[in-house]
Amino acid sequence: MLPLVALVGRPNVGKSTLFNALTRTRDALVHDEPGVTRDRNYGICRLAEDRPFVLVDTGGIAGENTHLESGNLAGATARQARAGAEEADLVLFVVDGREGPSALDDDLLRWLRKAGTPTFLVVNKIDGIDARAALAEFSRYGFSDVFAVSSAHRQGIDPLLEKVLGRLPADGDAAVPDDDPERVRVAFVGRPNVGKSTLVNRILGEERMIASDVAGTTRDSIAVDLERDGRKYRLVDTAGIRRKSKVEEAVETFSIIKTLQAIEQCQVAVVMIDASEGVTDQDASVLGAVLDAGRALVVAVNKWDGLSDYQRSQVEALLSRKLAFVEWAEAVRISARHGSGLRELFRAIHRAHASAMHQFGTAEVTRALEIAYEANPPPVVRGHAAKLRFAHPGGENPPTFVVHGTRLRTLSDSYRRYLENFFRKRFKLVGTPVRFVFKEGD
Ligand code: GDP
Ligand code: GDP
Repeated sequence: MLPLVALVGRPNVGKSTLFNALTRTRDALVHDEPGVTRDRNYGICRLAEDRPFVLVDTGGIAGENTHLESGNLAGATARQARAGAEEADLVLFVVDGREGPSALDDDLLRWLRKAGTPTFLVVNKIDGIDARAALAEFSRYGFSDVFAVSSAHRQGIDPLLEKVLGRLPADGDAAVPDDDPERVRVAFVGRPNVGKSTLVNRILGEERMIASDVAGTTRDSIAVDLERDGRKYRLVDTAGIRRKSKVEEAVETFSIIKTLQAIEQCQVAVVMIDASEGVTDQDASVLGAVLDAGRALVVAVNKWDGLSDYQRSQVEALLSRKLAFVEWAEAVRISARHGSGLRELFRAIHRAHASAMHQFGTAEVTRALEIAYEANPPPVVRGHAAKLRFAHPGGENPPTFVVHGTRLRTLSDSYRRYLENFFRKRFKLVGTPVRFVFKEGD
């Protein structure tokens, strides 16, 4: 399970600015894909590469903060913000260093104390002001962990991050041990009601004989092993799916956090969408999360059974438009209710896994680069052109290619896309994101 950090603070103190500073990836190559809606309420901080954590902006959860503006923390929306603070491993209580403490900050402080979650005080907007004086204004809050930052200018973010990581549980249960490299770790994810539990229960029902709960997994991240068509799979994070609690209290946001965690644990994410509803913004943000995590992807278009031929043709058109940003992923039409399309679904999962985990040799990767480069060298920019010299494999899931050369900064997005498409085609990569890392020099 990824640790959870919640941002709490009144409106305008800079929570979303801090959120962006922490969740923005340093990998310049993972650019925003058009068509992906980024939900601003949650994200994964990957600034420390080997220690990702989930970040939630509870201000966002609470809607437009109306309850906060009225100074009243009661009500359903406030309950969610509070749940965020209570479930988190750590709260960052964000305040405005320019304005000093306000009545609303005092309110928030009171219920944070009640929640009892470890809390750091983050005094924001200290750019251009006397940080020490700003901190002093909040000294009566009595925090021992106090950070002066400027989210907008990324000042003080690294020391904050370091202390945050120090406080979070170390990767406690990477509970699902990687015992068998042949076993494909799959997560079924998607927004509520697309049919995840119907599908998982159907799969497990059919395979009852060989499905078994994996011992030692925690209640929350229960995994199930199964075999299908002679291949082995581990379904990760099925707990919430199989025994669905009717108490869907913390609603969306917390299933979204679970979704992020499931994506983190899997190799192949099956994103389910409901054909009768098309591709919603929420579907797109789940897809975006899979891209961010670099996981292999299969789209399962569920409830295909309920559609007329006319509706099907409309849905087909919609899918090709809305899924254009993940056109490399296979989209399989299924009916979880009737069990149709499952064989094709598992084949697609297998193909995606094979692509994602493929081990490349340096020679074939460099050869691919040479051919791509010769066929279409980068254009001359102000009298100079980037030179691509050689390449080597840089990892799997997702397949990563490290390209060495000079003036690589001048490579345009369209050239990067050309390289990606070239490599995809040459190595027949389907169902997985592909990453390039560009290294200046030889
Ligand atoms: P939120 O409502 O708490 O999410 O606050 P926002 O992140 O939307 O920020 C509110 C305003 O404060 C925006 O105009 C930001 O540009 C500004 N702001 C945020 N962080 C900083 C900072 O570090 N320094 C300064 N000077 N302004 C900031
Ligand atoms: P989850 O929230 O994603 O786990 O979704 P559920 O599995 O609980 O399904 C939500 C609703 O969609 C239920 O009423 C299901 O019976 C229905 N449903 C699930 N799969 C299908 C399907 O393939 N076809 C149709 N017509 N309905 C389905």
